[in-house]
Amino acid sequence: MNILVINCGSSSLKYQLIDMNNEKVLAKGLVERIGIDGSQIKHETIGKEEVKIQEPMKDHKRALELVLASVTDKDYGAVASLDEIQAVGHRVVHGGESFADSVIIDDEVMKAINDNVEVAPLHNPPNIMGIEACSELMKDVPQVAVFDTAFHQTMPEKNYIYALPYEYYQKYKIRRYGFHGTSHKYVTEKAAEMLNKPADQVNLITCHLGNGSSISAIVNGKSYDTTMGFTPLEGLAMGTRTGDLDPAIIPFIMDKENMTPDQMNTLLNKKSGVLGISGVSSDFRDLEEAAGKEHRAQLALDIFESRVRKYIGAYYATMDHVDGIIFTAGVGENSISMRASIIEGLKNIGLKVDAEKNDVRGKAQEISAEDSSCPIFVIPTNEELMIAKETLELTK
Ligand code: ADP
Repeated sequence: MNILVINCGSSSLKYQLIDMNNEKVLAKGLVERIGIDGSQIKHETIGKEEVKIQEPMKDHKRALELVLASVTDKDYGAVASLDEIQAVGHRVVHGGESFADSVIIDDEVMKAINDNVEVAPLHNPPNIMGIEACSELMKDVPQVAVFDTAFHQTMPEKNYIYALPYEYYQKYKIRRYGFHGTSHKYVTEKAAEMLNKPADQVNLITCHLGNGSSISAIVNGKSYDTTMGFTPLEGLAMGTRTGDLDPAIIPFIMDKENMTPDQMNTLLNKKSGVLGISGVSSDFRDLEEAAGKEHRAQLALDIFESRVRKYIGAYYATMDHVDGIIFTAGVGENSISMRASIIEGLKNIGLKVDAEKNDVRGKAQEISAEDSSCPIFVIPTNEELMIAKETLELTK
């Protein structure tokens, strides 16, 4: 069974076609600049050369038409026709409280996703465009929605209610939702395999450290707490997002700089984080390179590291026991020095990496020393495969 996985951003679209008989990627690609001058697709069928298609794409529907044409192209495609695609899995950022699991999309589901636009105005609209375009172009193929928030719906009330007047939860559903759920779930299942334990019996601290970053406390295989909140802005300092902040700073800056809520949102989401601190880059490779020369680049790395460590410590303290600490995503999988310094700072709770085992990038491996109080793993995340698995489960 071949499943197409679609992840739509406001002007981008990532896709993978996966053969679920062996979980192998048949083709993948990225569409950029949808609705902007210079639209292009980078398409690769595995085993063939990458092709670049430059053509105006006024909307997601046009982009998807070209993606489907690429996937079925007789020279550089992966399958002979669309009949060879049995289902489509869509990444949807915000399922609100409506979805604790992935679902087959029907009119009712579309209505609920639309209702959640209010809490995810940046993320859900492009996801909706992707679903609508796909449903139109592949009429009889089942479409499945996989939500970033669903995995975290198991959090207990005490971990998702904010200390605001309770009526704001009742009136506007302001609460912690948590994001990166597909990734936290994927590494949880992988870690359970590596630990030789049933997935519903593992307690983990999963650190998804990328451009956007979040940490989750996993109890008995379920999300118990997580650092991202009502939106993906809370928690760790990220590439360009502030993470935790004294909320009083927000009206203070708005007042001083005469800013609108929109401008403030942009400042918090796009101009802050390690980019804002360093003034150098949001990319951790650039920061590591600049750290020896520029104080603020080192400072940004120190702040990032310190906050990761604080959350690992906090979650460690709230769980009965921890079976494993997991590092995943761009920074977690690749930055040997960042992992080493995070764990070095946690030696008071007995955590220890083995420098030789930690010398690894993008490969699932245990990196803890023999005498570490709990095993530590690098596990590359694979959100696309997780979406395809959930899609298969619902449609097979
Ligand atoms: P997202 O999916 O949130 O866009 P990723 O998980 O792909 O992000 O992570 C991107 C981040 O990973 C970038 O900031 C990049 O600098 C970082 N990264 C990738 N490779 C390395 C590396 N070798 N060393 C340090 N950081 C790395």
